[in-house]
Amino acid sequence: MASLAHMQRMLAHLEKQERSQLELLSWKGPGARRTDPSTMPGQRFGRLLVLRRGAKNSRGCATWLCVCDCGSERLAETNGLKSGCIKSCGCLRREQLIKRNTKHGDCNSPEHRSWMGMIQRCTNPKDAAYDRYGGRGINVHPEWKSSFTAFLDHVGRRPTRAHSLDRIDNDRGYEPGNVRWATAAEQNRNQRSNIRITFAGETMILTDWAKRIGIPVNTLYSRITHLGWTLDEALKPKMRKRRASWNAGRKLA
Ligand SMILES: [Zn+2]
Repeated sequence: MASLAHMQRMLAHLEKQERSQLELLSWKGPGARRTDPSTMPGQRFGRLLVLRRGAKNSRGCATWLCVCDCGSERLAETNGLKSGCIKSCGCLRREQLIKRNTKHGDCNSPEHRSWMGMIQRCTNPKDAAYDRYGGRGINVHPEWKSSFTAFLDHVGRRPTRAHSLDRIDNDRGYEPGNVRWATAAEQNRNQRSNIRITFAGETMILTDWAKRIGIPVNTLYSRITHLGWTLDEALKPKMRKRRASWNAGRKLA
């Protein structure tokens, strides 16, 4: 009996909550089907404040230009706002996601910070590094985006303080097989082997040029950067031959 009374109290409470939420969303009641456009600007929906009417979207629905508490702007459909589906520019969802994926004791771990940083760089246009990541199509694997645990299971714990998250292929995203913990030196080496070089009308990364010439990538790198070889000298096949025979000759002597 006690549990029935408890249920009834809960239901009454939920109904009351729902009603006040609907009031917040300024429903005009079941009779009011259409929104009077003049009443929208200045209204608040969650973190969004409606500024003015936007253009119709691709589905022909009216939209509103809104500014979010975080400072971003977005267009939102009337229904999305009024139903409570749209409450922010997307920042609320990001924050909830991060909160959901924070295991007790892990919210301040280096792995969790790396995970958050990775998602911010790739999904938040307000992030200082967004242009170099999300802005140029670097994505986070969908499973990792929604689950810190899945990310951690794949990359493991950070080996030392000197290690940070690194993408093996710079042009691919944060995805299984392309992410590792690496020291700054390792990352520099990795970055330099990903340098694109155009020579004789052909563009390849340094690693591939080194493979073609048949020398270690670091040797090729220092020839171009420290030893002052021109691209012609460093990458042209005949130049290597001459040096090879010169070396051979010296050995014979
Ligand atoms: Zn926002």
